[in-house]
Amino acid sequence: EMFGQLTSGLEAAWNKLKGEETLTKENIVEPMRDIRRALLEADVSGFVSLPVVRRFVQAVSEQAVGVGLIRGVRPDQQLVKIVRDELVKLMGGEVSELVFAKSRPTVILLAGLQGVGKTTVSAKLANYLKKQGKSCMLVAGDVYRPAAIDQLVILGEQVGVPVYTAGTEVKPSQIAKQGLEEAKKKNVDVVIVDTAGRLQIDKAMMDELKDVKRVLNPTEVLLVVDAMTGQEAAALVTTFNIEIGITGAILTKLDGDSRGGAALSVKEVSGKPIKLVGRGERMEDLEPFYPDRMAGRILGMGDVLSFVEKAQEVMQQEDAEEMQKKIMSANFDFNDFLKQTRTVARMGSMSRVIGMIPGMGKITPAQVREAEKSLKIMEAMIEAMTPEEREKPELLAESPVRRKRVAQDSGKTEQQVSQLVAQLFQMRVRMKNLMGVMEGGSLPALSN
Ligand code: GDP
Repeated sequence: EMFGQLTSGLEAAWNKLKGEETLTKENIVEPMRDIRRALLEADVSGFVSLPVVRRFVQAVSEQAVGVGLIRGVRPDQQLVKIVRDELVKLMGGEVSELVFAKSRPTVILLAGLQGVGKTTVSAKLANYLKKQGKSCMLVAGDVYRPAAIDQLVILGEQVGVPVYTAGTEVKPSQIAKQGLEEAKKKNVDVVIVDTAGRLQIDKAMMDELKDVKRVLNPTEVLLVVDAMTGQEAAALVTTFNIEIGITGAILTKLDGDSRGGAALSVKEVSGKPIKLVGRGERMEDLEPFYPDRMAGRILGMGDVLSFVEKAQEVMQQEDAEEMQKKIMSANFDFNDFLKQTRTVARMGSMSRVIGMIPGMGKITPAQVREAEKSLKIMEAMIEAMTPEEREKPELLAESPVRRKRVAQDSGKTEQQVSQLVAQLFQMRVRMKNLMGVMEGGSLPALSN
């Protein structure tokens, strides 16, 4: 499995933190050593040099020691998150969109070694852009592999995009020039130029590519890289970038059995982002490169990550302390009630993803569904209240007429409304009791 080795190497790091209360300078030493080893052993060293791994480990360590506690999140989960964030950064952070020229046509030049999937990617990219409503044209510039031209024609037909061909006897720069003229005539939005690759980098290929690039003045020069490329990936990306200047990369065969080091290295060695990834042989198997998803995949812990993120979100959205004060005060009203219940519901759906929330770990999916259902019912009733009623629940406690109206407007029974009102007062009381503030917390009886 791709990244399998790296993932299991990192697991050792998290395991060493089990049972710890917080992340400290001392207790992250061992886990950080594991992380470093995992990165190096995962064959990343060939792509991302030792200094990069060192910088990576340094950055993670610094953040780990400085990180605050998030209620309900264990230190090992926090470290996963920090490592994740750094991996995302290493891979370029945000999604890098394709750039389009201001005037038609946008020219995309594809370069890369033979067999990496360039021809396939050309057609996939046309298909991808076509789905975004852009008209495309393909140019068959791979003159050294006769089958490549036929292959592109077939794929072009398959995705419904015209292919410009000029055989194998014409110079690539000439084909590019003619292809571009044709694209202008056809007034297409995007012209994608497939070029010839060699088994290895050589001067003839680079010179040819330079000529082609000069003729085309492309908006994008994308290096197609096979995710399975071994240690030479760093040299490959660097050379292409220096020699012809790339604007980004497309990583192919991510569906395959590879260690995936190339995903980590491209940005680091070239400063240019991976823009798209190929995940299979079908024309649909091309998608944007999401550094965050890739990082999650490397860590094999998408679930923990989304848990930590959601916990952070909840903590940010609802200033927990503020809410606590509100609950304790006599002013706790239906607006707060709704907020509070929604927070709990959110925590509930998190626990569906993973059963890690302290005290909620054993919650079953059925219970979560039940909680979500009753939240919906409560929401309907609260929405049927007037703003005044929401702020002063006493109004509802005192008036059967009001409760009846709420029941009718929300499509619930009067009994359900009464229960909800009682629940709110119970909550006030319970909170007060909890905090040892005993005075004035008697439950008002509902008058009929
Ligand atoms: P080129 O020499 O660079 O033009 O490479 P091709 O486009 O001919 O692709 C070489 C082989 O890799 C073909 O058999 C493709 O079907 C296959 N291939 C290309 N992209 C992918 C991918 O994302 N996943 C998988 N599994 N195979 C791919």
